Amino acid sequence: MPLDELVITRAIMESYMDKFLGSLDSDVAIVGAGPAGLVCAYYLAQGGASVAIYERKLSVGGGIWGGGAMFNQVVIQEEAKRILDDMEISYMPYEKEEGYYLVDAVELSCALGLKAVRAGVKIFNLFTVVDVKVVGEEERVSGLVLSWTPVEMAGLHVDPITVGAKYVVDGTGHDAEVARVIQDKLGKRLNTPTGKVVGEKSMWAEFGEKSVPECTGEVYPGLFVIGMAATACYGTHRMGPIFGGMLLSGEKAAKMLLERLKG
Ligand SMILES: Cc1cc2nc3c(=O)[nH]c(=O)nc-3n(C[C@H](O)[C@H](O)[C@H](O)COP(=O)(O)OP(=O)(O)OC[C@H]3O[C@@H](n4cnc5c(N)ncnc54)[C@H](O)[C@@H]3O)c2cc1C
Repeated sequence: MPLDELVITRAIMESYMDKFLGSLDSDVAIVGAGPAGLVCAYYLAQGGASVAIYERKLSVGGGIWGGGAMFNQVVIQEEAKRILDDMEISYMPYEKEEGYYLVDAVELSCALGLKAVRAGVKIFNLFTVVDVKVVGEEERVSGLVLSWTPVEMAGLHVDPITVGAKYVVDGTGHDAEVARVIQDKLGKRLNTPTGKVVGEKSMWAEFGEKSVPECTGEVYPGLFVIGMAATACYGTHRMGPIFGGMLLSGEKAAKMLLERLKG
């Protein structure tokens, strides 16, 4: 059968528009397709929620790909191993010490992305979230303002567009970019000890890993924080290239959000 370039173009445009418009008002919009965002999205979709992820870069996986200092292996601890089992991701116990498991960073990045998409999550890459949409007197977060990443990179004078969501999740990593919008643009207090993004503390893997899931939650009406964004918001310790806390944080946020969506 002859191939027609115009059919290819039409097929791409139409199916992309269907996907985008189908996510225009989702249950949950997640910013950032790092480990925390992808796990959160996967469990939300498994629980029946409609979920869209907006990711600035071309690829999903966030900080997973580079492992530790570009050695592309990551470590997961005992507590998070069950998430790897659940998502059928392979790992090897570190034979010299109990409780440490090694995962290939490439497999982890690809598998989390595949599992999320297969569960029904819609991922939109090359979108940078530049603002939030708010509603009501309390200025509750109710959506996101999106700009194409190449527009941001080129500094073009182009207006962004807006999508709605019942809840928004900040999975932007160290920079906690969405929480900072609430603090800097809206001038509102966050639900943190200082009312602001406190900023992460120095390396302490044991404490840092335990605190990531503890800090996961609603940081402002309609906005949840996960992963390193939660660490940054609540000012707990960084933990280096051990990723269990990121997975557990995503899972915990998904559980909390599914409860909220039920209510
Ligand atoms: C300098 C540096 C230090 C690090 N230190 C640590 C550490 O101490 N402990 C640790 O565990 N890990 C560290 N990492 C690795 C890594 O960031 C995390 O471990 C892990 O990947 C965090 O997972 P996450 O899901 O929270 O966010 P990330 O993996 O960082 O993913 C966030 C994603 O959000 C996207 N994003 C960000 N802003 C926007 C936006 N406005 N719009 C759309 N998308 C956006 C990013 O492109 C990225 O894909 C470090 C990384 C760097 C670069």
